[in-house]
Amino acid sequence: MSEIVILDELTVNQIAAGEVIDKPMNVVKELVENSIDAGSTKITIEIKNGGKKLIKIIDNGKGIPSEDLDIAIERHSTSKIRNINDLEKVYTMGFRGEALASIAAVSRMTIISKTQKEDIASQIIAQGGQIISKDEVGGTNGTTIIVESLFYNTPVRYKFLKQDSTENRYIREWVEKAALANTDIAFKLIIDGNNVFQTSGNGKLQDVIYTLFGKDIAENLIEVDFEEEKIKVTGYIGNTRIARDSRKNQIAFLNKRNIQNSTLTASSDQAFKGSTGIGKYGFYILNIEMPANYYDINVHPTKMEVRFKEEDLVFKVFYHAIKNAILSEQFLGNTENEMNHQ
Ligand code: ADP
Ligand code: MG
Repeated sequence: MSEIVILDELTVNQIAAGEVIDKPMNVVKELVENSIDAGSTKITIEIKNGGKKLIKIIDNGKGIPSEDLDIAIERHSTSKIRNINDLEKVYTMGFRGEALASIAAVSRMTIISKTQKEDIASQIIAQGGQIISKDEVGGTNGTTIIVESLFYNTPVRYKFLKQDSTENRYIREWVEKAALANTDIAFKLIIDGNNVFQTSGNGKLQDVIYTLFGKDIAENLIEVDFEEEKIKVTGYIGNTRIARDSRKNQIAFLNKRNIQNSTLTASSDQAFKGSTGIGKYGFYILNIEMPANYYDINVHPTKMEVRFKEEDLVFKVFYHAIKNAILSEQFLGNTENEMNHQ
């Protein structure tokens, strides 16, 4: 008897799900990124029991046409790229066409969607990746995705989930970053029936920072708006008063995608040196915009790491962006400035 077999589709999808989806936060991330890609201006995220029981994402984006609903949950189905060359110019958050298939394979998933062209919404329900019903239903423009019983058919993975409060924290931290990166989208996060936070979507980063970090932080910010060699850095840095002894408040986005990168960390350390006090890290929330062919995003989907093609250039521009703000008059507690004024 032959020992080598080709795995069936559900097994393949369940294995793939392990790569992309290992906790409820990844489900939230993938679904919210889809909502962002769909041009939504309002996204509501509702969580129950750390996401183990329920994850519900409601958006007002462009919707999924009824005839595409079935294929949307197939593996490698995407409306965002057509071939490998498109990777050089993708600005959407997703492009692999794996997320919906992976999540559907390990949960009970309901999708309700309506495009502007359609008169009525459609709903499909899938269980373990198999579509069990498709109906026309009432609904407004946009997409609602409900994920229930996550990992019900992969008990080992279920066992590795943390307690609800920990899973809730991962989710909250991710949604906060999404709200900081997408100030023109009104986010609302509801956990176990409580409204955790809500942003207005008015496009002002300072307002989102106020909502998430409070008044003390919001009153000690210096705006950054800097551009050099097609690399643009915008956002806020904090003055000496809000420097902290961890890097928790150093948040960087690359074309609105939250990233962690050692070149940026080294660059900001250098820029803040002498201005934040020993052992303290300067506050920043900065978005870097650059052409998609300046970096490699074709890394693992759950990783926030990125490879810059010209690291020295990125180091230099990020350094100048921060340093310029530090050297400005508004930077309270800047020892260099205070000395100059004496
Ligand atoms: P990807 O985002 O990599 O294309 P996904 O599996 O996440 O793959 O989604 C598959 C497709 O389903 C997307 O390309 C998009 O066309 C559609 N889609 C998923 N979620 C939404 C949404 N909230 N609004 C509109 N379309 C969506
Ligand atoms: Mg996606």
